[in-house]
Amino acid sequence: MTLIRGIDCDAAGRCRHYHQDNDIAALRCAQCGDFFACYQCHDALCDHLFVPSPKASRAVLCGNCGVELTFAEYTQGSCPQCQHAFNPNCRVHYNRYFQA
Ligand SMILES: [Zn+2]
Ligand SMILES: [Zn+2]
Ligand SMILES: [Zn+2]
Repeated sequence: MTLIRGIDCDAAGRCRHYHQDNDIAALRCAQCGDFFACYQCHDALCDHLFVPSPKASRAVLCGNCGVELTFAEYTQGSCPQCQHAFNPNCRVHYNRYFQA
């Protein structure tokens, strides 16, 4: 299973900032290539700010089952492999995580 980096991060990718049951999507930074629980964790742990990934790339990791998803798959609202719900409030941060 791919490691998710974050502050106070559990195995499913919940972190200090986002830790509800459905906060399980991890996002890949295009610069360092690692998956992070959220951009705030990334920016605290890395020496550069989070760089958005292309929407067509597998830039999202389901913390529940470990499958890697594209933006289109992720925005269906739940994981296509394990059916775990994703937090719909993440949409306000799409511009931080994905290229336009
Ligand atoms: Zn990075
Ligand atoms: Zn975080
Ligand atoms: Zn899943």
